[in-house]
Amino acid sequence: MNTTKFYNLPQLPYGYKDLAPYISEEQLTIHHQKHHQAYVNGTNAIFEKLDKARKDVTDLDIKSTLKNLSFNIGGHLLHSLFWPNLAPAGKGGGKPSGMLGDALDKEFGSFERFKKEFAQVAVSVEGSGWAALTFCKQTNRPIIMQIEKHNTNIYPAFGILMVLDVWEHAYYLDYKNQRAKFVDAFWNIVNWDEVNNRLEELLK
Ligand code: MN
Repeated sequence: MNTTKFYNLPQLPYGYKDLAPYISEEQLTIHHQKHHQAYVNGTNAIFEKLDKARKDVTDLDIKSTLKNLSFNIGGHLLHSLFWPNLAPAGKGGGKPSGMLGDALDKEFGSFERFKKEFAQVAVSVEGSGWAALTFCKQTNRPIIMQIEKHNTNIYPAFGILMVLDVWEHAYYLDYKNQRAKFVDAFWNIVNWDEVNNRLEELLK
């Protein structure tokens, strides 16, 4: 059993240069080492604050502390899902096969239709947030959703299959204000095997 009570920044499953030209080395390095790290540090600092207040039996603003905790944990967990659902340039992209390919065809009519809807969801996130492909086991439906900031307004028990970070920090060095170009580039580096594995695990 893992006994640590704190989070760590996970290693990327590829090198910092491997997603170029779709995501540059500089963009990926800052995103992973600075932004993702900040959510890990933010969460751990709140854990320490909670531990201390409980040990010393002092009061704290529990509502704002937990809101802040949810923001930072969401940031950490979403980035931890994001990195492995990307694959090095030349090894990702294309079309999903297997259970995932079937599920998308069945729900959306075609993979092209799914891509179009997912891109529209990603491009239209207001301010900072994410697009996510989720799956509902009760209805066997893949469902696309928007996530505001890092606050996963997700339906309990839905599994997250794939996420796309559309915070400006995810693309601004490479694409400036052109989020749609970043979303377009994303399709070249999706790791469909990983996304399909998540669906198979969910349905086991
Ligand atoms: Mn991010």
